[in-house]
Amino acid sequence: MPDIIQLLPDSVANQIAAGEVIQRPASVVKELVENAIDAGATAVTINIKDSGRTLIQVIDNGKGMSPTDARMSFERHATSKIREANDLFAIRTMGFRGEALASIAGVADVELRTRLHGEELGTYIHILGSAIQKQEADHCAEGTNFSVKNIFFNIPARRKFLKSNSSELKYIITEVQRVALANPELAISLYHNNSVIYNLPAENVRKRIVSLFGKNINQSMIPVETSTSVINISGFIGQPKYAKKSLGEQFFFVNGRFMKHPFFNRAVQQAYDRILPPETFPSYFLYFEVDPATIDINIHPTKTEIKFEDESSAWHIIQASVREAMGKFNLMPSIDFDQAGSIDIPISPVRGSLIPEPEIKINPNFNPFETAYRDFQGSSGVSSYREEQNRDNWQALYTGFEHDSDQNVQVIGTQADFYDDVNPDAVQQTFTEEDVVITDIHNFLQFKNKYILTPVKSGLMVIDQRRAHERILFENFLQIIHNHLAISQRQLFPAELELNAVDKEILCVIGEELHALGFEIRHGENDVFFVEGIPAMLSHLNASDLVQKLIGDFRSRPVDVKEEIKEHLALLLSQSTAINYGVSLKPEEISDLFNQLFACRTPNYSPSGKTVISIISFPDFEKFLK
Ligand code: ADP
Ligand code: MG
Repeated sequence: MPDIIQLLPDSVANQIAAGEVIQRPASVVKELVENAIDAGATAVTINIKDSGRTLIQVIDNGKGMSPTDARMSFERHATSKIREANDLFAIRTMGFRGEALASIAGVADVELRTRLHGEELGTYIHILGSAIQKQEADHCAEGTNFSVKNIFFNIPARRKFLKSNSSELKYIITEVQRVALANPELAISLYHNNSVIYNLPAENVRKRIVSLFGKNINQSMIPVETSTSVINISGFIGQPKYAKKSLGEQFFFVNGRFMKHPFFNRAVQQAYDRILPPETFPSYFLYFEVDPATIDINIHPTKTEIKFEDESSAWHIIQASVREAMGKFNLMPSIDFDQAGSIDIPISPVRGSLIPEPEIKINPNFNPFETAYRDFQGSSGVSSYREEQNRDNWQALYTGFEHDSDQNVQVIGTQADFYDDVNPDAVQQTFTEEDVVITDIHNFLQFKNKYILTPVKSGLMVIDQRRAHERILFENFLQIIHNHLAISQRQLFPAELELNAVDKEILCVIGEELHALGFEIRHGENDVFFVEGIPAMLSHLNASDLVQKLIGDFRSRPVDVKEEIKEHLALLLSQSTAINYGVSLKPEEISDLFNQLFACRTPNYSPSGKTVISIISFPDFEKFLK
């Protein structure tokens, strides 16, 4: 039998490569602008005709190419940016694979005009479907000018596959936004069918964001600035109240390159988790600087996926930085965008170590609604501690309120100032410290066994009893996990669990946190596990059901970051233990609930992001009766 293997001709190989690098006109824009940046350009002009179907032209004032380099640039794997494999670990340029121009030339009609700085003559090259048509000396401007015409002219299927003009233009604008945000010091103009879309001068990051997304975004931005040995972070995050119902402006950049990173996105989203209305998305523009040796850019030809060597540390630092920024903002609601300087964040973690949560001072053993728990506490001698604590809390809360003083209830004011509630007209949207001064300490009313009502200075405060209790328990559970304060209730008859391989793995991943909460789970023979102890405050629940439920939930929601596991466990447990609607509460239980709620870090929202507290304002009340 004759030999049958042959090398593909370059033109075919280039078409195949183009399938990955050049998916649509926007990919051409991205590759050409990135080349301009690598060539040291300070200004780039992009001309588009018919959403890129007819023409994509990119003109830069970078260093230009010699005649030989100009010809070489269209060869596959031809690059000036790396020379050996080791260079892959120190990449500072946008390109390095040497395949963009070869791919573009494989699927389009390309004209290149380029002149080195200081040279008298430049070079003109015309290349069509990988075949050189013409090369000659040319009187062109210094820098480089690529015209890419009739993209996919030789692959009708790809050309047909392009979306509507408006969609393709949207892709182009998105690419330009990304590269413009990553390089604010680069002047960029974008024209479509001769009308201007962007004409951006060199500017700073903040101004670039405003130039691209409008003046309104300015007031919503909170600066972020963190410096650690693993990663440096700068940029801006949006205030929670400006969060959008649809995916907003969410941008990560690493060493000047736009990056998609769903995992880090979760870190940011979670930093907002407890203070955003549900189903809304915060805006962010976060710039990371890392040692190029600690990331791998070479996962995908488009280089928007990047692998971090120490992903877990970075995750924690990102989340802590966002929280820190919001915390600072929270203290200074009128922060001036222009003056916003660096925030010193107390992090310099050892790789792989965890960032400790801020301390929350709460009595971790307290659950006002669980009689079994009270009995247990009573018999174990802990009860006196608990009761004293509560008495202290009581006294602390009400000192000064007796005469309608100007004291206020701890946390709520400044934080609440920038939350937007999803609520009916009659309910005031935000409240200040002033608003929530309690006017009469004894006036609590439980309404429909669902809401707690109490008069405050600015109106009538309405508290959702179940959500309030979820919030209290959530912070308690978190505190228990973080500070190992668990009290475990030994099971007289340990519940037996048989777990399959997947569930065993899940148990292994969340085991440490379960133990910190007070779960004692012993591995018996084969796949059998024994639940020998559960958290004392959950002693009224069925141990095996509870563990199964927790494992089941993690099965449908894979998490492997310690911090996320902790929060998620705290959330699940708070949801399964909180008092339900319809439960009638005794006056002292209501006071306890109130007391505990206002000792929370974030009383306004339940751990799943629902509104806990609203105030019906005095003027609204008056309107009812007019
Ligand atoms: P890569 O960017 O990965 O090196 P490309 O195919 O995009 O590969 O470009 C090949 C080479 O052509 C680059 O390494 C660079 O030397 C040269 N080049 C491309 N575009 C420009 C430009 N606008 N100005 C100067 N040189 C360029
Ligand atoms: Mg390139």
